Order: sequence, then C-alpha cells, then structure tokens
Amino acid sequence: MLTAQAWIGRSVACACGQTHHVPIEKVCIGSDMLERLKAYAAAQHAEVWLIVSDANTHPLLGGATASALAAAGHKVDTHVFPETHDLLPDRPQIEAVRRRIRETGAQVAVAVGSGVINDITRYASFKESIPYVVVATAPSMDGYASSVAALQFDGLKTTLPAHTARAIFADPSVLARAPWELIQAGFGDLVGKTISLLDWKLAHTLYQEPLCAAAYELVQKPLKACIDAAEGLRSRDAEAVRELFLGLVNAGVAMAMVGNSRPCSGSEHHLSHFWDLLAYKGRRAHASHGHQVGYATTWMMKFYRLLPQIDELVQPRPRTLDMSWREWVREFYGDGAETVEAAQARKAERLAARQDHWRGWSRKSILAALQPEFSWFAQVERALGVMGLADAGARLEIDRPILQETFEHAWELRDRYTIFDFLAGQDRMAWAVEAVLG
Ligand SMILES: [Zn+2]
Ligand SMILES: [Zn+2]
Repeated sequence: MLTAQAWIGRSVACACGQTHHVPIEKVCIGSDMLERLKAYAAAQHAEVWLIVSDANTHPLLGGATASALAAAGHKVDTHVFPETHDLLPDRPQIEAVRRRIRETGAQVAVAVGSGVINDITRYASFKESIPYVVVATAPSMDGYASSVAALQFDGLKTTLPAHTARAIFADPSVLARAPWELIQAGFGDLVGKTISLLDWKLAHTLYQEPLCAAAYELVQKPLKACIDAAEGLRSRDAEAVRELFLGLVNAGVAMAMVGNSRPCSGSEHHLSHFWDLLAYKGRRAHASHGHQVGYATTWMMKFYRLLPQIDELVQPRPRTLDMSWREWVREFYGDGAETVEAAQARKAERLAARQDHWRGWSRKSILAALQPEFSWFAQVERALGVMGLADAGARLEIDRPILQETFEHAWELRDRYTIFDFLAGQDRMAWAVEAVLG
C-alpha cells in the first residue's frame, strides 16, 4: 500500500493545523506501469505529448513509453539528448526542450529518466506552462515528487521554483537494473533522513518548531523498511528496490506537504553542501549528492551518539556572531557571505525569541524524545556498510582536515536548527568535534 496515497491530489486538513495540498495526481509503482500510463494518458484531454530522454534512457523506456502514449490515442514527439553521461541541467539544455515544446505544440511533457532529465523537463515544462509526467528509470534521488528544479547555470548550482509532476510511473524490475552507483545514491539520500528527522524532532522538542506527524511518518516508515532491505538492494531484489523508490517518492511528498525540505534535509545535507562548495573551490572533485549524504550520515550519527555523554544540560547560550567569524565568512564565502550572515542572524534571533521554551531538559528526556530513529543507529551503520557508503571518504576526497573544517562550518550554510546548534548552545562543539574525529 502506498502510504502517500492519502495525501496526493487533494487538499487535506491535517491534525498538525496545516491544510496540505500535494498537486500530484498519481503515483504508480508496478510491473504494469506502462498499461497504467496508457490508461492515465487516455483519460487526459491533451493530444500532443513530448517525451524527453537521453541516449541511456531512450532505448530503456523511451520507445515503450511512446508506444503506450500512441496506444492511448495521442500524437507523440521525442527529444533525445545524445549524452550518455554528464548531461547538465543548464541553460542550453533547458532552452532545447522549451524550443521543442513550442515546435511540436506539446501539451504534456514526459521525462523518461532520473535526476537531470527530471530537473530539465520539470523546469522547461513549467516555463512553457504545460504539465509534466515522469517515467522513472533509477531510484537515485528524492526529487521525483519535488516542485523545485535543481539546475546549474554558469557552473553554479541553483534551485529554482517549478512545478511537481502530475504523475509518476515506475517499474521496479527496470529500476533494479539501474547502474549500481545510482542505487547507492538513492539509498544514501534516503538513509540521510535518519538524521534530518532527528534534527527536526530536536528543534520541535526543544523550541516547538512546527512538526507535522503525518509528514514525519511518511518519511520514517519506508526509511526503516529500506534500512532493513539493504541486502536486497545489493542483490537488486525488485521488492527492495520498490521500497527504496517508494521511500524517495514519499520523501518528496512529505516536503510538498510541509512546503519546505525540513523533513528530508538536516545537518547531513549541510555537510554535503559544504563539500559541494569545496569542490566548487577546486579543493576536491565533485561527487554524487546521494553518496555524499550517505557518507555524511555516518558522521552525523557519531555526533548524535555523544548526547548520552552530556551529563548536565545548561540553558543554551545563543551563538555569538562576532567580528572574527564575520571576517572568516567574508573571506571564505565571498559573494555568498551576505546570505550566510543573514541566515545565521535570523537563526540567532529566532532562538533568542524562543529561549523560554527551554525548560529544564535532561539528557534522558531528550533521548526519549528522539526515538525511534536514535535506536536504529546500529542497523543504519550496517546498511551503509552493505551499500558501500560507510567508508567512502577516500573515494569522495574527504580527508580528516576537510572533516574538521566541515564540522566547524557546515552549520553556517542554512538557518535550520540542527544538532550542531544544540551542541554550540551547550558550549560543546569543540569537544564534540574532537570526540568524533578521535
Ligand atoms: Zn538530498
Ligand atoms: Zn500535517
């Protein structure tokens, strides 16, 4: 049973006080997905459909998708990127798809592929004001249900508003044949939610940051199932891969429900963003997002594991954003310094305003609040090992000095409260970094 079904394609007044609206009409995961795509397409009034794929995904599913749409009575055009790898979601590619939409008079775009194909198609169809549908080829990222497009303009990564897919179709037996690095990446991005959920719960517990229990559960349940299914993923068992894909789609739905990435992006993503920044500065090679997030999760669990060692909790001290910090920020972030300073000033202000929410927390009460993810750590660690992500440091070009620098600065990138802010508030950051690095 697809747990997201209760939330998609409708507005639901939730117990959290928000009315959630997830504008996805359909998610189909099954070996009969092409039949269901045909039925879905037949029910749509749009007549001209444009399939966007690349040299890998077109032979895999592009032709079969075209046949299904033609059988539904539609006119089908295609745009096949000649690339087999390193296709970039940049201006020329987006422009090419937009031009093709206009030339063909397409009324629906169909992305046949995973990450980059989706981002390009999502953004191009949004700019041309036509809906888009996904036929997924790999369980590699949590962006299938996303409403924003991750693009790269002039070498710089940027996230721009776009729209969500109207429908998502996937066949687990096709997903299971995806390149191994893509399955690893999807697992890494999903397993990172162990930490983002904990960071969210920590902020909710200590500072009453809003938390939607339904969105939380939507991420947490398939996450647990996936952690338990790591061996199955390794042997490319279709049921395990289905579980992974479902977890990734649900993660996207959860973000759409709460209107931001809080359920799915915490300190583990901050580490990954910092590593991207170092790559951009030429200090290491760029690497896969999901692999980085998976590896970051191993480190963030070590930070969480220190919590039981903090005997007495004190009233948190707001972090001081002093001159030496500001100077460092200006030097390191250059043009981005203002954004970093503003984000941290915002966070400091928010925490200061919520100081009285802090009430005599004990180590025991905090640990009790962080269940059940906290008690999964051994299983998560094992699963990361099975998936080949636990010891990825050398491959990702992340050595001890980089880790040290990352732990000291990754909190700066966003205004989101994480365990780093908790440790800083307890004046325990230096101690924690040393304890974690050993
Ligand atoms: Zn991610
Ligand atoms: Zn809710």
